[in-house]
Amino acid sequence: MKPDSSWYWRKLCHLRGKFSPAEVKNVGVTGIFKASKLYNNTLSQHPVGYHQAVWCRLFIPKHRFLLWQVVNSQLLTRDNILSFCIPLETLLCPVCGFYNESHTHLIFECYIPKKVIELIFAWMGFRAWPIEFTGWTVWLASRRPGVISSITNMILDAVIYYLRRNRNIYLFNGFTWTTDYLAIDIMNIIQYRLFIVKNRKLTLQEQRFIGKITM
Ligand SMILES: [Zn+2]
Repeated sequence: MKPDSSWYWRKLCHLRGKFSPAEVKNVGVTGIFKASKLYNNTLSQHPVGYHQAVWCRLFIPKHRFLLWQVVNSQLLTRDNILSFCIPLETLLCPVCGFYNESHTHLIFECYIPKKVIELIFAWMGFRAWPIEFTGWTVWLASRRPGVISSITNMILDAVIYYLRRNRNIYLFNGFTWTTDYLAIDIMNIIQYRLFIVKNRKLTLQEQRFIGKITM
């Protein structure tokens, strides 16, 4: 290599030995070479069944990102923080103060989620998802495409976002919204979001469901 070679040429020459010709050829089969694809192929990946249910375009982007974190148990709940060997004054839930904070407690077991989920189920007219963590992730992975299915997922997504936000408000500002207020906020955001599907061709069942939750 020439001593005055540019840094990226040096880097390319260095990387040449890291990949086999077959690996390089594999990412260029469409005629366009993608460095990101080559890099991603080097990572060990564990396919999951719930990615389509989470990354749905109907959802509000910040909601779906949070759902992805929750379903992968990646939120900084106090049990997770402890697992990083970061000392904490307490592991108790900052909202109720009675039980250790975990994903299950934050979403299903604390007194606020329990009440909010009941209000949301009453609004939807059916018990839409299992209210324990393992059953819930299995349920999410088994979701099929469809308007009602996507809207149900979107509602779940909004519930989780508002519960998490309420927990942070309590932690940093010292107050929590009432469960009625939280449920109404969730209903409002869903109703605004449903303007997206307003002009879509819908089945009678889908129209009835949307009509019920937008009344
Ligand atoms: Zn709690």
